[in-house]
Amino acid sequence: MILFAHACGQDSEFIDFSGLEVPVHRELVSALIALKSQAETDGLSLGLCSGYRNFERQRIIWNEKASGKRPLLDARGCKLDIGTFDELSLLQAMLRWSALPGLSRHHWGSEVDVVDAQVVAGGYQAQLVPEEYQEGGAFACLARWLDTTINEHSLFFRPYQHTYDIGVAPEAWHLSYRPLAEKFSQALSLPQLEELIQSSDIALKKIILENLDWIYQHYAKRYFDVSDF
Ligand SMILES: [Zn+2]
Repeated sequence: MILFAHACGQDSEFIDFSGLEVPVHRELVSALIALKSQAETDGLSLGLCSGYRNFERQRIIWNEKASGKRPLLDARGCKLDIGTFDELSLLQAMLRWSALPGLSRHHWGSEVDVVDAQVVAGGYQAQLVPEEYQEGGAFACLARWLDTTINEHSLFFRPYQHTYDIGVAPEAWHLSYRPLAEKFSQALSLPQLEELIQSSDIALKKIILENLDWIYQHYAKRYFDVSDF
């Protein structure tokens, strides 16, 4: 059984920190190795640039974005000037690209962000923005490969692929491991999440708590359907 503490990034007991270039849940190490080898057969080098991230790490990223220490991007990946934003607009802009600490799928260890390792090995610094994965972008080849490989029959799916006015921006690079994602999504609980946010040093806390159910519905729950691909 997966507990809330695991689902919200407060327990790393199931994480394998050494098998791959990023930490991931130990149950998906072999599936990722198989995916990498499939890519290699097709002439691509699948690199992982992000895997498991705990609550504390997400909290730091969140607070740095809210304070302007880290850049905030719009839906197309362009830098936003947050100086004129009210708190609700700032919250919405942040949630487009950054999960609320406690609601990041990366807490589960079942999620990875992928890049073309050959391009990165050539000195390219990955930004994880849409244009890199579009035609003409640095990772266009990889994106085309993912489009054909990640389908309804595969163990992985891309949860962030549809565009919503209010929601997470499409992320061509984010892969989710179906068998685990389903279990982790079921372990989340809104009352427990509320308690966790309440007791954490987190920017925009008041407005988060006022809108927590809305955040959960629009930025987390709608992406839980593992039959989506
Ligand atoms: Zn991701």
